[in-house]
Amino acid sequence: MTDDKCIFCRIVRGDLPATIVHDDVGTMAFMDAMPQSNGHVLVIPKRHAETIFDVGADEAAQLIRLSHRVAHAIRASLQPDGLMLAQFNGRAAGQTVGHLHFHLIPRAFGSELKFHATAPAKAEDLAHTRDRIKAAFTA
Ligand code: AMP
Ligand code: ZN
Repeated sequence: MTDDKCIFCRIVRGDLPATIVHDDVGTMAFMDAMPQSNGHVLVIPKRHAETIFDVGADEAAQLIRLSHRVAHAIRASLQPDGLMLAQFNGRAAGQTVGHLHFHLIPRAFGSELKFHATAPAKAEDLAHTRDRIKAAFTA
């Protein structure tokens, strides 16, 4: 179910620390450790699946369902001007971590995105943003 070499599987198992927004039976949301903007969240399946082509329609729907909930919580808590949802499949498409994930990236007018996966955020800043998003989470 999980892959020992996969960093997101290690997060699922609790072997690697993460700033977790939501955790349920099949899916998980946590703060991107090198966010492209404040509030950048990743939504993943808990079982190891590399790309969108490795999950069935029901699992894909579960991931969109959680992404939708997280999107609403980000909007309610951080009130960004916009929200980008992105998902890359394969290195040619820009995927760097080989475990399926959806990016939710808040956007603001006049603010460029930080480079992809470069600058680690401070743990306390991630936790603070996570707490704000989590407080806006609805069932
Ligand atoms: P991608 O290039 O779409 O595969 O994105 C992988 C994302 O995972 C990047 O945005 C990274 O900043 C993020 N990332 C890498 N390692 C970790 C980690 N240990 N915890 C949280 N996010 C991570
Ligand atoms: Zn994995």
